[in-house]
Amino acid sequence: MKRLVVEDLFLSFDEGPVLKGVDLQVEPGELWAILGPSGCGKTTLLRAIAGFLRPQRGRIWIGEQEVFGPSVWLPPEKRRVGYVPQEGALFPHLTVADNIAFGLPKMLWCQTRVQRMVELVGLSGLEKKRPAELSGGQQQRVAVARALAPWPSLVLLDEPFNALDAGLRRTVREDVRQALKATGATAILVTHDQEEAFSWADRVAVMRSGWVVQTGDPAFLYRHPRDLETALFLGERTVLPGTREGDHVRTPLGPLPIDPRSPARQREVLAVLRPEQVQLKPGHQGKLLRAQYFGHDLLLEAELPGGLKLISRVLGASSLSSGDPIQVEVLGAVMVYDKEAAGSAPVAQADRAGAS
Ligand code: ATP
Repeated sequence: MKRLVVEDLFLSFDEGPVLKGVDLQVEPGELWAILGPSGCGKTTLLRAIAGFLRPQRGRIWIGEQEVFGPSVWLPPEKRRVGYVPQEGALFPHLTVADNIAFGLPKMLWCQTRVQRMVELVGLSGLEKKRPAELSGGQQQRVAVARALAPWPSLVLLDEPFNALDAGLRRTVREDVRQALKATGATAILVTHDQEEAFSWADRVAVMRSGWVVQTGDPAFLYRHPRDLETALFLGERTVLPGTREGDHVRTPLGPLPIDPRSPARQREVLAVLRPEQVQLKPGHQGKLLRAQYFGHDLLLEAELPGGLKLISRVLGASSLSSGDPIQVEVLGAVMVYDKEAAGSAPVAQADRAGAS
């Protein structure tokens, strides 16, 4: 499998620019997720990499081969890219096996290849079925098997699990992940679902308004968003106003240690606390508003005098009930961001060594 390099990619439709200078570097065998809100340009980027759309500027390499550049244009069929769309891409009149074999040369070894793909995605025994006889999850498995069958250099998955219900979605995406890992594939999954991106990918690129604003491994991104907007996008949080004092920030909860990776430069800041950093105990600082039970964990919402709300996530159960007086303890350092944040600029691929 091959490395993918995207450099300063710019693509505009009649309505205006959608990709505004995207940089991305995916190493061979890595699974990436491109995570961003609806309309930020994720699918457009994927389609440009596949060759279905022609950007106005930039470069794309797949392995050693430049597939797009100022004087280079390789058509999609020559890029050796496997593309898995959202849904509905199977040929309804062909069997599972024939769908997977579509595009492979008609040679004897192809049968072995198709059988291997069927096993890899967990569809043994269903080779002769047609798409209408399969569940949504099984159909998406066929689509993945078909994308992998011709030994692509790169596999691109455009929100392929969207149509599946929550439980099935988790199983199918984990099986697809394992199938990609088993073939050593380099792959990119587009999603607007943070949990999906974090649990599935080795590395994540966060996109916003046509730019990749941050890349990194999931744990690093979650702990060290580079700006407030990214921090707010990447999961639940409490935001507290504060004043920087050396390596601490003074907040309504008292002084909290500042994470040294924080980008804040000004004195007046906003501190972002993840729910698992916030511990609530019996005390006299505020009161518990409500507890939401999720089985594996519990989401607690508390209020301090002045109306400041906090959320806390704890494993298992809690002895606290709604209305109980509480005390707050914050675990670890907090990320702080300038209150008067300048607009978020794009970044080149950063934090590559940012594993934690
Ligand atoms: P979603 O998560 O909702 O699929 P996305 O991040 O994948 O969103 P894109 O599908 O890349 O977003 O679309 C980005 C913007 O480009 C949108 O405003 C969309 O309307 C516009 N767009 C996409 N394809 C075209 C096209 N072929 N012609 C004109 N505008 C387009």
